[in-house]
Amino acid sequence: MSESYDIIVIGGGTGGYPAAIRAGQMGMKVACINAWLNRDGKPAYGGTCLNAGCIPSKALLESSEMVHRAQHELKLHGIETGKVSFDLATMQARKNKISSGLTGGIGGLFKANGVTGLEGWAKLLGDGKVEFTSHAGESKTLTAKHIIVATGSEPVELKKVAPFDHEVIVDSWDALDFTAVPKRLGIIGAGVIGVELGSVWARLGAETVILEALDVFLPMVDAAIAKDAQRQFTKQGLDIRLGAKVSSTKVTGKGKSRKVEVSYEQGGKTHTETFDTLIVAVGRRPFTDRLGADEVGLALDERGFIKVDAHYRTSLPGVYATGDVIGGAMLAHKAIEEGVALVEQLAGHHTQVNYKAVPSVIYTTPEIAWVGLTEAQAKEQGFEVKTGATPFAANGRAKALEAANGSIKVIADAKTDRILGVHMCGPYVSELLAEAVLGLEFAATCEDIALTMHAHPTLSENFHEAVLSVDGRAIHALNKKKAA
Ligand code: NAD
Repeated sequence: MSESYDIIVIGGGTGGYPAAIRAGQMGMKVACINAWLNRDGKPAYGGTCLNAGCIPSKALLESSEMVHRAQHELKLHGIETGKVSFDLATMQARKNKISSGLTGGIGGLFKANGVTGLEGWAKLLGDGKVEFTSHAGESKTLTAKHIIVATGSEPVELKKVAPFDHEVIVDSWDALDFTAVPKRLGIIGAGVIGVELGSVWARLGAETVILEALDVFLPMVDAAIAKDAQRQFTKQGLDIRLGAKVSSTKVTGKGKSRKVEVSYEQGGKTHTETFDTLIVAVGRRPFTDRLGADEVGLALDERGFIKVDAHYRTSLPGVYATGDVIGGAMLAHKAIEEGVALVEQLAGHHTQVNYKAVPSVIYTTPEIAWVGLTEAQAKEQGFEVKTGATPFAANGRAKALEAANGSIKVIADAKTDRILGVHMCGPYVSELLAEAVLGLEFAATCEDIALTMHAHPTLSENFHEAVLSVDGRAIHALNKKKAA
């Protein structure tokens, strides 16, 4: 007799483990099969987010920001420290402890919610069957009414242009584990990973050059906000070269003196730069290794994403997929919401993910955060648009934080007053964004936010002011239009 479950979740990352916990909460018999092994060979739940992405990068962003502030800001407060130095090994150990604490916690949550955690690989066999092979190589067949594939994504490798050797040419996971600060660091791709990792290592002293093929910086962010962010990053010392398409690389030297020569095309000319280390951050691709997709006839699109309908149903009956492996925004919170919504749907609830209110954040300093449409997208979609923007320069709390940089821009529908998008660059905007997301979720108008009292002095007042400025009535900033 094979082991049977109501739900088998394949993948223990953010697409998988919350779905398994939710299924357990609702009394379903659920197993979560997770193949992730950390570089020390130990299995861990949490996938890329907790082990090799969001959480470790935030830990290093925080440490490196503290170094930067101690070196450059404390004296503004009258605090004398002498020369500030740091120990990278301690910084890395702190980062690892944060990750392992969180990933270990998932095991506890599984126990508390009756989820069976299975460490190893899952292969789809069809007809509700899954072959589970443990890391020790033992296999067994499991059956389930519903199977959820949440196997995530992995870094794109530029196999011809810059193949990983994981020492000199590295991926985003390697770049979180450096044991020394590279003297000269190159990064291919000025996307989210490029600017976050670039910020970490530049703050710790690496001379950092980011090569970006596109002519525009962060095209998904409203143009005014992206331009401001680029100006601030450049001022911090990040050398961002746009319209720079990397065409080849060559690793030279031996042992510790290995370097990488990078050739790129820019403005019709070929340029060459030499770096100690090169991070390739050109996107992520769906991960479906060892799933048996071909053999069982699971339909993938031309880029390898699992094809699903609006209810996350794949081409196979009883098999569903969520998270990075189905495409769309490759964000942990999008994966979490999809997994939970799907399990609730399977339990007969009416749950939906609102793809119009997906928050996005880049954890640089200042942070960049946005939800909804840019001004250009709103116009393309035929809206009659009205906008407002206010800088943090006029915000007392931001001044006290020594962080009065950036601004908030609000894009609204001129006919209905409804907020269509909010784009921010500034201190802690990752947290301020939640109010804007709630606004979009509740279909808020500018008037709704204008009538909402915001505590003083807080950074959130600048969201209030930006909304007021849409109708020319910001109090602490100059309005571009006459008050309505
Ligand atoms: P990305 O798609 O955000 O950016 C990759 C960039 O590389 C693009 O701008 C692209 O034009 C450029 N590029 C591609 N080929 C190039 C070449 N040959 N030369 C120069 N430039 C080239 O991808 P990413 O930064 O690798 O991130 C991967 C995914 O992970 C994204 O979906 C991202 O949203 C997600 N992520 C999110 C967060 C967060 O939410 N804070 C953090 C990290 C990663």
